[in-house]
Amino acid sequence: MKYTKSDWIAEGERRFGEDRLNWKFVCPACGRINTGQEFKDAGAEPNNMYSACIGRHSGNMRPAKKTEKDGNGCDWVAWGFLGTLGKGNIVINDDGAEVEVFAFADATGE
Ligand SMILES: [Zn+2]
Repeated sequence: MKYTKSDWIAEGERRFGEDRLNWKFVCPACGRINTGQEFKDAGAEPNNMYSACIGRHSGNMRPAKKTEKDGNGCDWVAWGFLGTLGKGNIVINDDGAEVEVFAFADATGE
């Protein structure tokens, strides 16, 4: 799914409200749903929540395991060579640049 930046923000607000700390994104590698609040709690910038897995900030900096999902996150980032593994969204910035981001989680959290 491709969004303009304004449409993407509108979609996030529709799902989670205006408080970005309540926004949720799905890590394409480990499947964990990361929230802005978790990034803040980990001392990270909440705006990283759509481009990095919480594992990078919570001390669980390691590759996602395909078979064992412990829910602690992994080291995946959307700006890496493999992007979002075809599971993310594209946001078109005002300058026309396209940025790959993690997909929104469902508003209910799963
Ligand atoms: Zn992950």
